[in-house]
Amino acid sequence: MSRWAWAVILIAIAGAGCGIGFALGALAGPELARRMGTAYRAPTVPAAPIATPILPAATLPLRPSPSPEEALVPTATPLPTYTPTPPRTRTAPPPAFPETPEALPLEVPDPPSEPEWLVGLSPPARAAGVDRRPVYRIGGVLEPQSGWLRGRLILAFPYEEGPLLRALCFRAWANAPASGGARLEVGGIWIRGQPASPEWSADRTAFTVTLPSPLQPGETVELEMPFTVTIGTRAGGYGLMQKTGDGRLVLYYGYPELARLREGHCVLDPPWENGDLHQAEAAHFALRLRLPEGMALAASGVTVRESAGPGGWQTVEIVAPYTRNFVIIAGDMQKISIERDGIRVNGFYRNAPAAEARRALEDAADALERFGKAFGDYPLAELDVVEVPLQGGAAGVEASGLVMIGEDVYGMGDLSGLLGGLSPGSGSLDLLGFVVAHEVAHQWWYGVVGNDAHREPWLDEGLTNWSSAFWVEQAHGPEAARATWDLLVLLPYRLRLMEGDLPLSWPAERYSELDYAAIVYGKGAWIYEVLRREIGEERFFAFLRRYLQRHRWGWATGDSWRETLAEFMGKERAEAFYRRWVEGREITEKDLPPSPMLDPLFQDPALGGLLWDLLRALMQAEP
Ligand SMILES: [Zn+2]
Repeated sequence: MSRWAWAVILIAIAGAGCGIGFALGALAGPELARRMGTAYRAPTVPAAPIATPILPAATLPLRPSPSPEEALVPTATPLPTYTPTPPRTRTAPPPAFPETPEALPLEVPDPPSEPEWLVGLSPPARAAGVDRRPVYRIGGVLEPQSGWLRGRLILAFPYEEGPLLRALCFRAWANAPASGGARLEVGGIWIRGQPASPEWSADRTAFTVTLPSPLQPGETVELEMPFTVTIGTRAGGYGLMQKTGDGRLVLYYGYPELARLREGHCVLDPPWENGDLHQAEAAHFALRLRLPEGMALAASGVTVRESAGPGGWQTVEIVAPYTRNFVIIAGDMQKISIERDGIRVNGFYRNAPAAEARRALEDAADALERFGKAFGDYPLAELDVVEVPLQGGAAGVEASGLVMIGEDVYGMGDLSGLLGGLSPGSGSLDLLGFVVAHEVAHQWWYGVVGNDAHREPWLDEGLTNWSSAFWVEQAHGPEAARATWDLLVLLPYRLRLMEGDLPLSWPAERYSELDYAAIVYGKGAWIYEVLRREIGEERFFAFLRRYLQRHRWGWATGDSWRETLAEFMGKERAEAFYRRWVEGREITEKDLPPSPMLDPLFQDPALGGLLWDLLRALMQAEP
């Protein structure tokens, strides 16, 4: 059943206009729409034939790039062969691991020089150069038709500060239940010429590698491992790991990723309910990927070299400095690009109407420009806006230098007509623009300023949702902003308040799905509007810029947020604000702005309660 069918039922029950139906359908913004669960199924697109050359191993490059470890271990293992996959088979297993990583026919790129890294940064960010942080070098072969990526990772990890480090930990979110049965496996690991074994934990979403000798602060260790990521056969989560019906490969968790260190200890939380799993230090990435010729590749970072062949393959080399997660979408897609202030914005689409894809691209470029002026310059050289058949009702998902927009969101366009008789002249309600602006805002609040998405999800989601409503206000005017606040941001929170408030500072899984939507995205966004009115435009934006600067490529916490705020409103007031709006549960409907559109509805508690119950029922329908 489609989201719209649910909307019609809800309208019929509520007896309200279609605005409410829509609002319940969209549920307050991008990630929130995910929560419509089984109520929405993306349209099935018949598989289009893609010419995927399947080659015998002999035509692949056989010589890996030299590394110190290679000199130590003889290459005696037979090369894997690439088994042809019959068309329409969803997945075929990749070849078994050879015993040593250097036996893989995967060329790992050399470490880029400083000028080569700078190509990945926006003109204003180049002046500051690139700093010392983990460097991932990956040589990979991508087989979209069979649904797997095989790679060889060489990771240089500079240990900055803390106690002696005895192990490195990695996350393998591909193995989380939300990844739909995808698998990440690693082969033989080599550190300083010695073999090491992974010790799996956290439901196989993490593994620990003990170092041959402990690492002192200031030292760097290099580790090498082959890995394979295979897409699952069932749909899962938001469709972040999938082979689409039309043969595209979506890899959100496509490689083993360093686990975050907190006070010298790895953060190895098992997968949690609600929100995003991913959280990692910003790192520098260099990749050399081989994929079938003619296939489009949307990925984080900037392509620095492309070469054709041999035998129907192409090789793409990418650098991606300051990247928290490197994401790949490969397959048959159209590409359009525009350039603004030296930043290239690419749109990739497959099923969206061309005009809508162009609109999403222009909204993204506009949001980049406006956010750059308001918060601080966009730091990367490129941004990709990629249409993906997201699942579970997802409307959009952020990554570093890349945003995914659900294919169903394109074409929804201006929904002002849907506001119908409920509020004539209420301005436009632009869902596509709102979703695009939300994901673009994550480039600042997630990309530049990291935070613990498990323990303090309000830090990025609240500010990102506020930023998106701010973009609507700047791009479409105050009337459109009012409709957006009413229907896309605050509606679930208003409904929640009928049962009482909840703290904003809770970890993700402590909320029900519905409360997560209402509190983290609704209340979490509204606190910024309250602050803006309380301390004035000038100090408010100075606060946001200071917060960004303070945590640039690092981590924010609730404590550091409050301390930064204290610089702009005084310690006492900042702490009182934090206690009331972040830690407290005392907010009532009276603390929200009046809503001419929704107030008549909420004056009838029975009706509001009924809507809340219906939303709850929808959530429970999710598998
Ligand atoms: Zn978000």
